[in-house]
Amino acid sequence: MSHDFKMLIDGELLGSDSSLAVINPATAQPFAFAPRADINLLNRAVDAARRAFPGWAALPVEDRSDRIEQLAAALEARAAEFARLLTSEQGKPFDQAMGEVIGCTFILRAFRDHRLEPKVLRERDGNRVVEHRRPLGVVAAITPWNFPLILLMNKLGPALIAGNTMVIKPAPTTPLTTLLFGELCGTILPAGVVNILVDDNDLGVHFTTHADVDKVAFTGSTATGKKIMASAAGTVKRVTLELGGNDAAIVLDDVPPGLAARKVFDGAMVNAGQVCVAVKRAYVPSSIYDAFCEEIAGLARAAIVDDGLKQGTMIGPVQNRMQFEKVSELIADAARTGKVIAGGAPLDRDGYFIAPTIVRDLPEDARLVQEEQFGPVLPVLRYDDIDDVVARANASEYGLGGTVWGMDVDRATAVAERIQTGTVWVNHHLAIEPDIPFRGARQSGLGGELGAEALHEYTQAHIVNAVALA
Ligand code: NAD
Repeated sequence: MSHDFKMLIDGELLGSDSSLAVINPATAQPFAFAPRADINLLNRAVDAARRAFPGWAALPVEDRSDRIEQLAAALEARAAEFARLLTSEQGKPFDQAMGEVIGCTFILRAFRDHRLEPKVLRERDGNRVVEHRRPLGVVAAITPWNFPLILLMNKLGPALIAGNTMVIKPAPTTPLTTLLFGELCGTILPAGVVNILVDDNDLGVHFTTHADVDKVAFTGSTATGKKIMASAAGTVKRVTLELGGNDAAIVLDDVPPGLAARKVFDGAMVNAGQVCVAVKRAYVPSSIYDAFCEEIAGLARAAIVDDGLKQGTMIGPVQNRMQFEKVSELIADAARTGKVIAGGAPLDRDGYFIAPTIVRDLPEDARLVQEEQFGPVLPVLRYDDIDDVVARANASEYGLGGTVWGMDVDRATAVAERIQTGTVWVNHHLAIEPDIPFRGARQSGLGGELGAEALHEYTQAHIVNAVALA
């Protein structure tokens, strides 16, 4: 690819002496290069964000809102270009990439419309107490490789409308769409309000310990989230952590197995299973277990697995070699104690393709059941008793999402209310919308994104408590 990708620092698009090859997971070959930052550039980016903060925060909110609308419009105008690039670096089918890009414009526009008015908490006996919300300062956004753009917008929308400035670091395997978005920011935002740089998994700790970074907004694995929380402690930074999950899908016994299999399959295999709230384990009652397994294995065998830029592709490659090897190893482990009824191996071609894999009859303590696979493989587990399946769904250090499927919506909802996660969907899935808060329980996260509460994550309460001088 001929595009000369640049970082955005203090309003300038910058290259670097050092670069990273970006690999297309559908070919396993480099297709573009990203400039790589060092600690000096990181310090320049943070310094630029610090200097830009007072001016940006002092702008009337309508002006910040207007710039956010311009970003949304610019992204919309080039949606197909962004989506093609997203498929090339991330692997997801083009229609899913378009969905991600258009989703970004919805999120930006939802935050464009947010306002944080001062709130009178008390007006009594001459005592007036008002809560203002003030921006925090410099927000560092650190994003993962599964949804590089939309997970950035979840942070950028509330951060900018509230008056913060930003330094942004995408994952090293998917930096390009973020850099391209930086070109839009460079023409629309004042210098220093948004700064974007790329690392090779080596600069994160400098964001999280930097004295001039006020908040770290992170999406990624629980293991990295723990490191970030520990290293942010030195400066008592605000953190939001959106981390991993091991979401259960519970199918109730009144659902036709074919219908249940289709819903669960789609929820497990979207973006080749690399979704924090993908179905990661399916629980199916004994009465329909065999029929369900047969149906879902059929769907896995029929799915078109190919380069995401090819029309008709349903499932693309796994995003990077390390994840490809991790998923392959989990499948090999599962094959020792369970029965693989579809897939079970990489495709015999270049690229990080794994055939969609279904494993039945696994014991509950199998690694594929207990760990987050983050790939196109699903264990299907049997249950006989609702209390038992609820206990098994809840027996996880994670608590991100989950689904319950049932023809009787009230009965399914009653089961959903017992699942101890941030979100449980009943009879639909992946409905993550700007007006609904999204947050993980237990080791799936701290704080959250989206919903009106998101503004609180990017602001500090400032209480002014006044009485007459007597
Ligand atoms: P990861 O934790 O390996 O990397 C995420 C980001 O953190 C990357 O930009 C990486 O460079 C950076 N990083 C690495 N070490 C760091 C450090 N010590 N300090 C600061 N930053 C550091 O995650 P990943 O493999 O890119 O993403 C997959 C994970 O993300 C899965 O566990 C998935 O469930 C989770 N995820 C969660 C959500 C959510 O909203 N809860 C959404 C998407 C993905």
